[in-house]
Amino acid sequence: MLRLILLPTEQCNFRCTYCYEAFEIGKMSQGIQEAVCRLIEGRDDLRYLQLSWFGGEPLAAFDVVKRIGGFAHEHCERNGIAYNADMTTNGYLLDGERAATLLDQKVESYRISLDGDREAHDRTRIRANGRGSFDRILKNIEAIVQIDREFRIMLRIHYHRENLESIPGLIERLGRTFGREDRITLFFRNISRFGGPNDAALPIVEEKEKRQAIEKTFEEQAKTWFTNLYSNETDDKKYVCYACQGNSLVIRANGAVQKCTVALYDDRNTIGRLNDDGTLTVDQGKFRAWIAPPSDSPCRSAAKHAVPPPYARP
Ligand code: SF4
Repeated sequence: MLRLILLPTEQCNFRCTYCYEAFEIGKMSQGIQEAVCRLIEGRDDLRYLQLSWFGGEPLAAFDVVKRIGGFAHEHCERNGIAYNADMTTNGYLLDGERAATLLDQKVESYRISLDGDREAHDRTRIRANGRGSFDRILKNIEAIVQIDREFRIMLRIHYHRENLESIPGLIERLGRTFGREDRITLFFRNISRFGGPNDAALPIVEEKEKRQAIEKTFEEQAKTWFTNLYSNETDDKKYVCYACQGNSLVIRANGAVQKCTVALYDDRNTIGRLNDDGTLTVDQGKFRAWIAPPSDSPCRSAAKHAVPPPYARP
């Protein structure tokens, strides 16, 4: 089994206020795209392949997604390899047409974030041109649910001290628009400090008890409309971090091989390189530090599990 978390570009059409990415690297070159395909092709013992599209914004390099995703899908079909793909996207470019193309390539899980109802969302999920993004994201989701296919959308609702009042309005709006849609799962999550330039000023709800109470209130309201809710309290316990799994690799847009999608700029995370012929050069010492974490690390118990998580995430 192999899970590849691919960054087809590290550019993004958004500039979210809490983002930790540096946007220094552009689109994956043709050479690296080919090398990813050779990496997949070269694994002749493969029984299951999972591609997870991440970024930057992966749909800002839709051609790369189609090239590698199309290859992977066909290769797996031809060779009897189980295959699925998922995408973490801001949703702005995910219109019905692109979604249909992606579904044809078995990209069947999407993770999209909203930061409150329109006004609050547009204050933090800002496009690179300074404008908001709420209306377009919602319109895109409305178009996707018109598609009569199997897929899942995890709607991650970010809350923080300054948007709490807008969340009930958002839940109601989502409920009225998508309420009986069982392909959508709602997930309430506090924003976090992941190393971005605005970390110190982020209006995070710091106290755990307060967060639990907030989430419970939101979940109770959401239950009126939605049957699928991800609960931080119970589902998090089942979550296994992809970074501690030996068969999960992040391939950056420049061909660097890493383990974690958050510590992008930490040297300990760069465990190797994807070569032009699709082989990997890996520093085994660095690699082992990820899959055999210290005995007091919470990753230790997670590492025992074999099942991959459905989404890449911070
Ligand atoms: S959409 Fe994601 S990558 Fe883009 S700015 Fe926002 S948090 Fe960063």
